[in-house]
Amino acid sequence: MGSVLSDAKCPKCDWEHATSDFYYKIGIEFIFCSRCGYYEDYPNIYNQEKDLREWHECVIGGGFGCFRIMFSGFGSLSSFEDAEDYNALVDDFKSQPPHVWHNTKGEPPTELTATFYDEETGKWMLHNLLEGTIVEFDTLYEDVIEE
Ligand SMILES: [Zn+2]
Repeated sequence: MGSVLSDAKCPKCDWEHATSDFYYKIGIEFIFCSRCGYYEDYPNIYNQEKDLREWHECVIGGGFGCFRIMFSGFGSLSSFEDAEDYNALVDDFKSQPPHVWHNTKGEPPTELTATFYDEETGKWMLHNLLEGTIVEFDTLYEDVIEE
């Protein structure tokens, strides 16, 4: 099934570089924002045998940041569903050493980051839990975007 990936403006945080994955043959668009974790998704698309009639309604969620864990090139990205999710993750991480966060092969993560909205500065931040650094999210994309 063909789809077109492009940038989209996130309806939640207004970031201009959310990902739109548009399946033009069926007119369905998935949106994922890797800054705030906002998503518009059709959960059953992965389970159905391309049977349009059984697809469920669009599900909208996230918007409170997202969490990325990588193991030498493979990993996953998930959205926080409320503002407490980020704090819970950080608390979990602090109470357990990094090797606890291993994959099924017992390998430790090579990347562990979480985004969150900083109420004081009004900016989205990226917390690198493995390195213990917090940087403004948007600055990570400036160089790439201006090339
Ligand atoms: Zn967003």
